[in-house]
Amino acid sequence: MELPTKVLIGDGVLSQLGEFIEESARGGKIVIASGSNVQSRVRDKVDDALGDRGFWVDVTAADLENVEKVIASSSDSHCIIGIGGGKSVDVGKLAAFRKGLPFYSVPTSASHDGISSPFASLKGLDRPYSVKAKPPLGILADVDIISKAPRRLLSAGCGDLVSKLTAVKDWQLAHRVNGEYYGSYAASLALMSADVVIEGSRRIGKFTKEGVRDLVEGLISTGVAAGIAGSSRPCSGSEHLFSHYLDIVAPGVGLHGEKCGLGTIMMAKLQGGDWRLVRSALKNVQAPTTATELGVEDDKVVEALMRASSIRPERYTILSRYKLSKKRATELAESTGAI
Ligand SMILES: [Zn+2]
Repeated sequence: MELPTKVLIGDGVLSQLGEFIEESARGGKIVIASGSNVQSRVRDKVDDALGDRGFWVDVTAADLENVEKVIASSSDSHCIIGIGGGKSVDVGKLAAFRKGLPFYSVPTSASHDGISSPFASLKGLDRPYSVKAKPPLGILADVDIISKAPRRLLSAGCGDLVSKLTAVKDWQLAHRVNGEYYGSYAASLALMSADVVIEGSRRIGKFTKEGVRDLVEGLISTGVAAGIAGSSRPCSGSEHLFSHYLDIVAPGVGLHGEKCGLGTIMMAKLQGGDWRLVRSALKNVQAPTTATELGVEDDKVVEALMRASSIRPERYTILSRYKLSKKRATELAESTGAI
């Protein structure tokens, strides 16, 4: 198991960033991977917390070029911090992993579980899903900053969280059919995190600081569940394959958590689960529950249902079991209101 060793969540905790990373930074230079939007929101606060030791690297995309840029800047530093939503954390995490440096994750939004997981999702790799790196050594989540993130990002985070329901079911199926390793503790942790949104969707959907804190804790816990399992199994099943397929056929449309949320509704029905409960929770947090709301064409959704399992054939899921025809895929999407 590889797990984060320090987690600090609270209102205004960004001011404590210096002390939080000092054990690794040891008074030296600190490389900070961050995008320009995020820098405009937090740079003054971070500079106050770190003094003049922070060396900012502008992350423009979640790709290998940016990973190289961060690595090139980190030769005389003792640690790397990723500050931002998805891309800066993923870029910083993989750069730190490749460079053998400790990594700290400082999310400024809560749109997916990459803020704590040992995985990084980047363009330019040989596959459309995430690669294994190391979990962050520490995660510092300032609820004040995250609660001011665009609402859509927080709704997407709820989508990534509910997706653990179908991911765990797929994991259980793979265990039964293929004898794949299954860890009930990691699975329970992921399911408990999904329940934060399923059971508390009306409250979370108001995105008060308290609700945002629960969402962040849920996302961090699922990343930890992946660390305990030593694989992304508790966090990523058929609904993630559906999302990855849409990444290819409808690039740039919809956020990861939005696509996973829509996928979860349909996979839950296929698995015989309570898909209506998933859909109403997503509606309560203002996440898309239809192809139109997501911004993709109906036929792309049907195609993704038919072909998503081919993205990662070794990952056995409900889509491997049923191999949906066009007719069945269309029926599934229509009957759940997705198209
Ligand atoms: Zn995800």
